[in-house]
Amino acid sequence: MTISTGALWIKNPLAIFASQGEDVSGGIVIHDGKIVELVAGGQQPTTAYDQTYDASRHVVLPGLINTHHHFYQTLTRAYPDALNKELFPWLKTLYPLWAGLEPEMLKVATTLAMAELMLSGCTLAADHHYLFPNGMEEAIDAQVEAVNTLGIRAMLTRGSMSLGEDDGGLPPQSTVQTEQQIIDDSERLIQRYHQRGEGATVQIALAPCSPFSVTPEIMKASALLAERNDVRLHTHLAETIDEETFCLQRFGMRTVDYLESVGWLSNRTWLAHGIHFDDDEIKRLGAAGVGICHCPTSNMMLASGIARVKELEAAGAPVGLGVDGSASNDGSNMIQEVRQALYLQRLRYGSSSVTHFDAYRWATEGSAKVLGRNDVGVIAVGMQADLALFTLDEMRFSGSHDPLAALLLCGAHKADRVMVAGQWTVVNGEIPGLDTQQLIADHSQMAKRLAEKLKNKTVV
Ligand SMILES: [Zn+2]
Repeated sequence: MTISTGALWIKNPLAIFASQGEDVSGGIVIHDGKIVELVAGGQQPTTAYDQTYDASRHVVLPGLINTHHHFYQTLTRAYPDALNKELFPWLKTLYPLWAGLEPEMLKVATTLAMAELMLSGCTLAADHHYLFPNGMEEAIDAQVEAVNTLGIRAMLTRGSMSLGEDDGGLPPQSTVQTEQQIIDDSERLIQRYHQRGEGATVQIALAPCSPFSVTPEIMKASALLAERNDVRLHTHLAETIDEETFCLQRFGMRTVDYLESVGWLSNRTWLAHGIHFDDDEIKRLGAAGVGICHCPTSNMMLASGIARVKELEAAGAPVGLGVDGSASNDGSNMIQEVRQALYLQRLRYGSSSVTHFDAYRWATEGSAKVLGRNDVGVIAVGMQADLALFTLDEMRFSGSHDPLAALLLCGAHKADRVMVAGQWTVVNGEIPGLDTQQLIADHSQMAKRLAEKLKNKTVV
């Protein structure tokens, strides 16, 4: 599904977001899937190249990296009963619907969500899949297949829920698994799919869902398993005050104390949201190097709060961006999420303290660090050739002056070209070989079927 290239000079971009202070206005040279040379303005590459791509209409960014999503939720966007609610009632409305998920639905939802991300400039996406009702035992296997077909990189997290309603948790009992089932499947997936080292395409992480849907035992067992296999840990934390209250009542401690008590306060961990931390908690998270995935749209949609992103970064915590699941966004558009981050963070820190460069950094270098990667996220020699190219020829950009600022301020929503490891994965705003209309038709039909299942009460 990708078009291959040899040694390629991406020449004279309109603008480029590259390593600090370097003149890269002549473009970049790519060979063997990596960036091999940065070219100064008016210069020719010193590396031999056999192809040229004229980027004079393009703003070039490192490929955007999404660090938190729930791909399956694309099937339950704008669901009437879940509208206008905050996190806990929103979740309680949707859990019974989600309990009807089937393997084919997840596969199509994964393909659609990743396609959406790719068309908005994304080259690496994390998904947090924690629903394993009966019949969904091979959920992550189906996702790996979809990732490999599209050519994007993915961090697929093996989520889990082990604390059902019967035991004081939030999710329905039919959606939770035993500790043994979770650990066995996690181990199987790591052995089978986790790639290590530079240029990895598919990686696996362990991701118990949230304090209110898993037991401390599964948190501890996951941490030990991650340590033993050298993989990353992911969960939702400090998203809402309801969650903080739940932790105080059930565990007798605040969220970060809970995190520490189960062995997760480490640089192996990244957290979705990370909103309600006090000053001391920010210091501790920073010192431990815990990554934070900021999800501005989701946080606004559910009125959860505004993450203290600048303070977390200053304390030493890597900060990246995530669109979050498509029931709380309800889109999977990365470049739009960068704009949301810029504006929401300005609301907290003021307009002179948060620039478009900050927002780009979170979506690229920051997100790469959050996922534990040092081979992507920056345009520099030796890095993987993962790029997103945008044009400014729509009406919305007309009259703009600074191209890098215009891309965000005027509201870019689609990439013209995207490259992963030197291969074009998006060409002229389309994914080569993907029948988008058919995908939408299949996906819409499955979304309807999922809703019908709940209506007819055929979900166990
Ligand atoms: Zn989430």
